[in-house]
Amino acid sequence: MSTVPDHDVTIAGGGPVGLAAALALQEAGLSVAVLERAPASVWSEPPFDGREIALTYHARMLLERLGAWKHIPESVICPLREARIETGQHNHPLIFEADRPAGAENAPLGWLVSNNMIRRGLYAEASEKTGIRLIPEAVVDTVRQDGDTAVVHYNGGERARTRLVIGADGRFSPTRRRAGIGAVIHDFERVMMVCRMAHDLPHHNVALQWFGEGQTVALLPVNGHASSLVLTLPAEEIQRLMHAEQGAFNTEIMQRVGNRLGAMRLVSSRHAYPLKCVYAHRFAARRLALLGDAAVGMHPITAHGFNLGLRGAETLASEVNAAFERGQDIGSGDVLRRFERRHRAATMPLFAATNGIATLYTRDAGPFRLLRRVGLRVADALPPFKAAVTAMLMDRPPVMDGGRR
Ligand SMILES: Cc1cc2nc3c(=O)[nH]c(=O)nc-3n(C[C@H](O)[C@H](O)[C@H](O)COP(=O)(O)OP(=O)(O)OC[C@H]3O[C@@H](n4cnc5c(N)ncnc54)[C@H](O)[C@@H]3O)c2cc1C
Repeated sequence: MSTVPDHDVTIAGGGPVGLAAALALQEAGLSVAVLERAPASVWSEPPFDGREIALTYHARMLLERLGAWKHIPESVICPLREARIETGQHNHPLIFEADRPAGAENAPLGWLVSNNMIRRGLYAEASEKTGIRLIPEAVVDTVRQDGDTAVVHYNGGERARTRLVIGADGRFSPTRRRAGIGAVIHDFERVMMVCRMAHDLPHHNVALQWFGEGQTVALLPVNGHASSLVLTLPAEEIQRLMHAEQGAFNTEIMQRVGNRLGAMRLVSSRHAYPLKCVYAHRFAARRLALLGDAAVGMHPITAHGFNLGLRGAETLASEVNAAFERGQDIGSGDVLRRFERRHRAATMPLFAATNGIATLYTRDAGPFRLLRRVGLRVADALPPFKAAVTAMLMDRPPVMDGGRR
């Protein structure tokens, strides 16, 4: 029996990846519904959440193609010139600079944009598309299979019939759990605190990652004399800092960063993220695909969670849109298996490598400290290694000229 769906695709979760997937799928003419639990006012204008997202060339190119980039004001896009990794106080830094082809001497390594501005840009574009229906205040309950369609139940009684469901509801995805898909969950037993600090000295558009004993610090440049502070510590330390009086907080942070940027002061809200990384055992089930953090919730240390989420949306849309154009079933097992195979191959090596690096840099036992120091010296002496990491950080398609802002 064939049943008429309300929408071709229904997406559970209207975060940045869910919205990017909606935009990519409507390109082929599919009708898409996005169910998001947040109210419309918050969804359209998400508040600052502390995250500064380092975007690769590929991610920027996709955001441009999907139409979201034009909604992001130039004043909030910060080009990244260089990334330095240091260990301890007296250290030998490992420096990554953009690989700059002739004619693109100003090419940055990537761009930093706050997560809420990316979300805002994606929402603005999605809200202009007739093929996308944005449904706020919609909490997804269950997904049930029904012949050649699936039915998404939300808000304790509402239903949406669809050919394909996408679970893009974050790293603790209720959709993944209810579909019975397990996940590898790696708990680093650390919490990451993020906030913006203004400072006296210029950052020169350099990102600094510093592994001191007992702490990991990153200072990411943002426009103006300000940086995003990313501090990783045990939960109780972060809890204390989250509530520390501002003057005491500023003093402690200046000490923790070794006064590298002169006098510093907190200029934003503080946000804490427990470091739990997730890799789903499967990315697809019957008429269901997982995307974004619901499929792969990366450790932020290599700044690739959203970049990979966008890749996943692109891969899924390429398979689904091709099936649609051929007149085939867009939610068939064949389509979803091809997506799953391609996206696992694209994400598994980076997920494993990132967890290895994060483990090395969040443990303080003697062998880990030694390995860190030796590792940076060896890595710096190996041009092929540096070139490979730079390529991974930039993820630059050959067609992109890097000279732009
Ligand atoms: C501190 C920090 C720094 C980071 N830095 C980088 C970086 O530099 N580069 C990078 O690429 N990535 C980075 N990331 C990762 C990036 O932020 C995530 O990968 C990305 O936000 C994931 O997007 P998502 O849409 O999959 O999930 P989310 O952003 O979690 O969105 C999920 C959405 O689903 C909704 N939802 C949940 N449950 C339901 C339900 N039952 N019904 C309806 N809606 C629901 C939620 O309200 C939310 O809007 C960083 C992460 C952190 C924490």
